[in-house]
Amino acid sequence: MNFNIFLNTITNQSFSLPLVILYVTAGCNLRCIMCSYRNPLPGELSLDEVKSLSESLLQFGLRHIVYSGGEPLIRRDLPEICRFLQRPRVKQSLLTNGLLLEKRYDEMASYFYEIIVSLDGPTAEIHNGIRGIESFDQIVEGIQKVLRSPRRPKISLRAVLQRKNFRHLDEMAGFAKSVGVDRISFLAADVYSQAFHRDVAGKSLNFDDVALSRQEAVEFREIVNRFVGRHQADIKSGFISENDKKLHHIVQYFEALAGVSSFPRNHCNAPMVSAVITSTGDLLPCFFLPAFGTIRSGTLGETLNSPAIRATRARVREYSLERCQKCVCTLSVSPMSAFLGQF
Ligand code: SF4
Ligand code: SF4
Repeated sequence: MNFNIFLNTITNQSFSLPLVILYVTAGCNLRCIMCSYRNPLPGELSLDEVKSLSESLLQFGLRHIVYSGGEPLIRRDLPEICRFLQRPRVKQSLLTNGLLLEKRYDEMASYFYEIIVSLDGPTAEIHNGIRGIESFDQIVEGIQKVLRSPRRPKISLRAVLQRKNFRHLDEMAGFAKSVGVDRISFLAADVYSQAFHRDVAGKSLNFDDVALSRQEAVEFREIVNRFVGRHQADIKSGFISENDKKLHHIVQYFEALAGVSSFPRNHCNAPMVSAVITSTGDLLPCFFLPAFGTIRSGTLGETLNSPAIRATRARVREYSLERCQKCVCTLSVSPMSAFLGQF
């Protein structure tokens, strides 16, 4: 039971920060078409700064940290970072592109609750076409290494749905099953925000590479309808993370991009229960909204409760931000789930 997280969900104040996504570096060893992360940024957080951040996060009620980036496995001192946060009540998850998993898994095997590997296609051709580099076989070797290890963490696949892979939904679920991972999740590629480093890199996404045409959006609805019918047992068991409603939410998002529907209503309250911390210490209310401060000045509690972030939370709550109205995120934690710690 957690009364502080419950209070977060019914106010615009942060009494606790249970979920944090920490970008440990902006460097990446892949070249995905929907993202511009490439090189580490000047002035990324030092190990000492991460240590001090870890202490603040533990004091502020951290329950789950997700290491992301860029590609977190290119940061050499990631095992030390994991050690700072190793506590019985804190889950540590790794969100990785998997390219270095085979090489670095042994150093970090004991820290993770879950390893989430981004895999955007059931074959090398589809995955590599999106990810920009011949990487599929190496990633699958990394996944197999985790699966063979004793007392392994959970391991799951995450596929970013877009023009180059939407027809392969069924094969991706089949691939996940055949390789033996614990689950697979799907999300829609974001085309609107400045996330994924597009602002800093000065690059913009090529909309037509990622979004579906009108005809493809119609086809995608049929694909998802068949998929949902065929995979009811996998959805019920949680092997497929998204339920029927969330999968149809993705369909409607692509229909809206194609101009044949309105955007689906989001009930996201990410800024009430989580924050994103970038590799240079900026604090973001979620993946997509602008930074409201930095962990390099003031205390964490002060930054999390600045007038700017409280105003942002109010606008998220009233659903008045255009960014929220066109968002791919579906994180929603009800006050009851928050109270029971079930999220
Ligand atoms: S989406 Fe992930 S793997 Fe691809 S370039 Fe960006 S950070 Fe790297
Ligand atoms: S809907 Fe999207 S932009 Fe709005 S708070 Fe949630 S994650 Fe952020």
